[in-house]
Amino acid sequence: MVLEKRDKMQIKCVLVGYLQANCYIVTQQNKAVLIDPGDEPEKIESELQGLELVGILLTHSHFDHIGALSYFEEKYRLKHNNKIKNFDYETIETPGHSKDSLTFYFPKEKVMFTGDFLFQGTIGRMDLPGGNEIEMQESLEKIKKYEDDIILYPGYGPSTTINKEKPRFSYYF
Ligand SMILES: [Zn+2]
Repeated sequence: MVLEKRDKMQIKCVLVGYLQANCYIVTQQNKAVLIDPGDEPEKIESELQGLELVGILLTHSHFDHIGALSYFEEKYRLKHNNKIKNFDYETIETPGHSKDSLTFYFPKEKVMFTGDFLFQGTIGRMDLPGGNEIEMQESLEKIKKYEDDIILYPGYGPSTTINKEKPRFSYYF
């Protein structure tokens, strides 16, 4: 399913695993970046036809986001979260759901991939190992400072915007 065409970048979402996590394929011309290859490598790979896989980004290392990671790292000789040529993005540390939670921000297209940190209408759970309420509050404060019309693509469920989510932040604690 093609979700969004912002400028030349295209974003596809593939639902993977029994939890139906969002795996994103971000493409520019014929180059593709995978975000959170959670499971079902063949299903993901079938969406990569005609594209050159140039990078893998992981929002965090929970099992439902990394199930197909080693498949792609080994087959395409890539290492996740290494710098990716031709793709312009910023890595923001957003712990709270897990210690290693990252948000990837593509400023030209104004899109963010938030993993399990921030969803439409809710935030990530904080009761798993590495979860932390204070860090979550700090991460939300950080994200608040970005522009309102940035689209958020979470690890589960539909996309949203900073504008829509921001008013709820103070009710989560
Ligand atoms: Zn998680």
